[in-house]
This record gives sequence, structure tokens and C-alpha cells, in this order.
Amino acid sequence: MFFNGTDKRYNQFSAYLKNKFGAKVYKITLDAGFSCPNRDGTISTGGCIFCDDGGSFSQAHSNMLSIEEQVNIGAQTLKNRFKAQKFMSYFQAYSNTYKPVGELETIYKSALKHPDVVGLSIGTRPDCVDEAKLDLIADISRDYYTWLEYGLQSIHDKTLKKINRGHDYDCFLRAYNNTKERGINVCTHVIFGLWETKDEILETAEELARLKVDGVKIHMLCALQGTKLARLYEAGEIDFMNEDDYVNLVCDFLELLPAETTIHRLAGNGLKKNLIAPRWLGAKLDCLNKIDRELQKRNSYQGKNTLQTDINVK
Ligand code: SF4
Repeated sequence: MFFNGTDKRYNQFSAYLKNKFGAKVYKITLDAGFSCPNRDGTISTGGCIFCDDGGSFSQAHSNMLSIEEQVNIGAQTLKNRFKAQKFMSYFQAYSNTYKPVGELETIYKSALKHPDVVGLSIGTRPDCVDEAKLDLIADISRDYYTWLEYGLQSIHDKTLKKINRGHDYDCFLRAYNNTKERGINVCTHVIFGLWETKDEILETAEELARLKVDGVKIHMLCALQGTKLARLYEAGEIDFMNEDDYVNLVCDFLELLPAETTIHRLAGNGLKKNLIAPRWLGAKLDCLNKIDRELQKRNSYQGKNTLQTDINVK
């Protein structure tokens, strides 16, 4: 046995939630019509070079339904399909703190009315939070299991510039510290394959270990239809990591993260439809199985190479 009473050699968030709530917790992805300052002209109109029309890997589509209707339909569908009992409302597409705080309060609270919703997860940019917004989220987190997910992608400013993030690492650090001061859980998103060396990617892991972030979501850089990255790929200006290198790098990264850090994702999700490259990312399960096998082959596990780990994982 490794993490959460399973044979997983990393602290998989879904298993962590199952232990915490005594039942599998399903995320309901919601679309509240948010935008992003890196796309609407406030910072730039181009957005991050990998961002597609859905707002960066999102699967939420509102079809003009209210938040409450989206939650009700999502919960019923998951109950019918998986006999699901508990849910987290998940604002994923674009920057979900990018509205005035009064509007945010109405939106977030609408997502929490369903009796089986136990938590809230909000994806955003680190430059889209302020004291009032964090106070609101901290207030909600007293009654609901709440996470803020910050897109970081890399700790290296040269990389953030290259992908047109529109913020630097210091901006993330300020948001992170302000969020943690309020006791809110933070999940940090990183992307592999951003023209960085292996050492540079692993420096991001070491920094996240130093910060003891609560959660990490790892993506492989991929070209989706209609993105600037897809145009670069088609022009032959970028190539992507192969699957074996990605698997090895994920394992190296996990070994550096503290065992307490929950792992929310290790590969892209539902990307098949718009995916141009790398094609191997379309078979997510294969990739996850390879990561499991590589950790097993190394006789390794998350936290093996970090000094930050306080808990016994075996
Ligand atoms: S911050 Fe997110 S939504 Fe905004 S441009 Fe970048 S990936 Fe797209």
C-alpha cells in the first residue's frame, strides 16, 4: 500500500478525496461566462500561446443555463451514470475570479446550493485576485471544501514571457502567499515542454516543494486547433516531447514533491477532439499506466527525493 490506502505511488487527488469524504467526489465543471484579461485586451488580446477558444483545456459549456441548472443537471447525470453521491463545483474555463467581488459572491454561492455539493474549486490567474476576492473565498472555505487553482506553468520568467502569460513568477508568489495566509487550499498548474531543459523543469518542482503547495496539476504542452501554438507547430517551429521522456520527467518531478501535495492531474484530459500534437496525449490512460509502471520499476514514489516530507507514505 502506498498513498490513501491504494497502490498508487503518488498522492492522487481523487483517492485523497474519497478518503476524506468517505465516497468518491465528482467534479461538475461549470461555465459562468468568465473572460480573461490576457485575451480581452486588458493585458493582451493574444492570450497564452496554447490557449484555445474554450479557455485553456476546459470542458465546460453553459448552453446559456444558470449556474444552479448546470449543477443540477451535472449532478443528476453523474448520479445516473456512476451512482455518484458527492460533488465539487468546478469553475474551470478562463479566469474565474475575473469579475467584481459582488458578482463572484452570487456566482460561487449559486454553485453551492445543491445539497450534495461539498466543495468548490476555482481556476484563475494569479493577477486576477485581490484582498476582497480572497476574503470572500476564505469565507466560503469555512463551510465548504475550497480550492483556488492558479495557472503558473513555470517558475521561470523567460518561459512565462515566451508563452505570453502576461504575469511573472513574483506575481504568482504574491497571490500564493495572500491565499495561504487565509487558509485556502492552492493547486498550482504547471506545463512540461515549454522550451525548458529538464533541470529547469525540475527547478519548478523544487520551488513548489519549498512552498509546500497543497496540490499540483501537470500538463504536457499540446497544440490544440486554432491556437498560436498550433500555427507554430504547423510552421515547423516547435516539436513536442515524446511520451517516454514525459513519463520519466513526471516521475522525476513527483519524486521531488512532498508526499502531502495532492496530485490533481498528470496528463491532459478530454483533449482528443481538438488535439493536433502530440498525438500520444490522446490516450491519457496509457500515459497514466506508464507513469505507474515507471515508478514501480524505479521502486520509487512521490516525495522520495524531497526533504520536505513529514508523513510516512508506506
Ligand atoms: S490565462 Fe488561461 S484563459 Fe487566459 S489566455 Fe492564458 S490559458 Fe487562456
